[in-house]
Amino acid sequence: MKLENTSTAIKAYEKLAEVNSKLNCLVTSVKPAKEGIPIVLKDNVSTAGILTTASCRILENYIPVYNAHIVDKLNENGFACIGKASMDELAMGGTNLTAVTGPCKNPYDLNRISGGSSGGSAVLVASGVVPVSIGSDTGDSIRKPASFNGIVGVKPTYGRISRYGIIPYASSLDHVGYFTTCVKDAAKMLEVLAGRDDRDMTSSYKEVLPYSSLLNSDMNGKKILVFKNVTDAISNKEVINEFNCIVNSLKEKGAIIKEVYFDETLMKAILPTYYIIANAEATTNHSNLDGISFGRRVDGDSVDEIMMKSRTEGFGPWIKKRFVVGSYALFEENQDRIFRKAQKIRRMIVDEVMKELKDADALMAPAAPGKAPLINESSSDELTDEYLIADNHMAIGNFGGLPSMTLPMGYVDNMPIGVNITCNRFKEEDMFNIALAIENITGLADKTKEVF
Ligand code: GLN
Repeated sequence: MKLENTSTAIKAYEKLAEVNSKLNCLVTSVKPAKEGIPIVLKDNVSTAGILTTASCRILENYIPVYNAHIVDKLNENGFACIGKASMDELAMGGTNLTAVTGPCKNPYDLNRISGGSSGGSAVLVASGVVPVSIGSDTGDSIRKPASFNGIVGVKPTYGRISRYGIIPYASSLDHVGYFTTCVKDAAKMLEVLAGRDDRDMTSSYKEVLPYSSLLNSDMNGKKILVFKNVTDAISNKEVINEFNCIVNSLKEKGAIIKEVYFDETLMKAILPTYYIIANAEATTNHSNLDGISFGRRVDGDSVDEIMMKSRTEGFGPWIKKRFVVGSYALFEENQDRIFRKAQKIRRMIVDEVMKELKDADALMAPAAPGKAPLINESSSDELTDEYLIADNHMAIGNFGGLPSMTLPMGYVDNMPIGVNITCNRFKEEDMFNIALAIENITGLADKTKEVF
């Protein structure tokens, strides 16, 4: 329960420079104007009068004139922002290696990645500087770094938290979420952040429950699905061992465990489907970053030349690759064959999972196949089941808008690993209850790793 016992914002602010010199996790530090619970925001959250770059060169000078909805909510609830955290450029990535400010490091091992795209937000909680931070999650960008840094990462139901003022990535998949060090704080933060906002028409009118007072770890009769395609694809025995221990303890506490094996072809299609939809939507969303409507301008002799030069200098190579993939999928002649097909497969994947989940309380799996990779490790073989399924299964939560969270599961070689649970839409209450039961089993609440 770090939210209650936290140091003040000004004290936390004083630690930032030193922590940042070790972790390279900040874009901008923000001197708090008043005391409050210290919080950091991912740098894609618009803050009036404060630089908001999304870790992208084209936005290096962008100072919004308005606050994101959640920024106002946090201010009203006694939080004080002390910094804007590093992220993968425009949130497109899973490593935090693509931030224009350079790689963000893992507090458990400075040679390892934080994970991304909400890497800076994750490590500032994991290193104990702040009790809570804001992230965003389009494919797994909160839940993966939570696993790599031994903390709690929550992506609630699509529409639960307003996205007004968040620099978009892929609008049908984007969610606002957050990191904490324990389940109780996670439940409290949803009370603060959730709720209808007329400026985000996808935000829900559904009542926001007092999640933290409803917390109850009684597992009697809870139905939990074990995601077999994921566990089968993981080669690391220690990860599976830690996972099985939790499953067995949940069973002892009265939970009804059922192993489910979804259609393998559909599970292998998660990543390609995600890439097509996410990149197509990103291409559209970022068409305004042209040096004229928005962003750093590079001079040229014509409007076209200004746009071309601004975009050429303003984006990293991986972003350009994604725009090429996204544009290709949206060419008129390709729309049915690629983009609409991906949308249909997305629906099939969600239907396949919902068929089981609608009669259960949660779907559970390791959040990642292993510990955080080394910063200079070559990327994994992208055609293995381990990569296609075990490394990317959490995008199902974005496809279906399902609430999903990661919490600490244990350690492999002294590095943290996490467990993920995904529940039915607007059933955050169930999700927090099951998470609390898991937290009681592991005893891994409020674990931080100081680097200062
Ligand atoms: N790693 C995924 C991607 O590269 C997810 C990113 C995210 O959730 N923002 O797009």
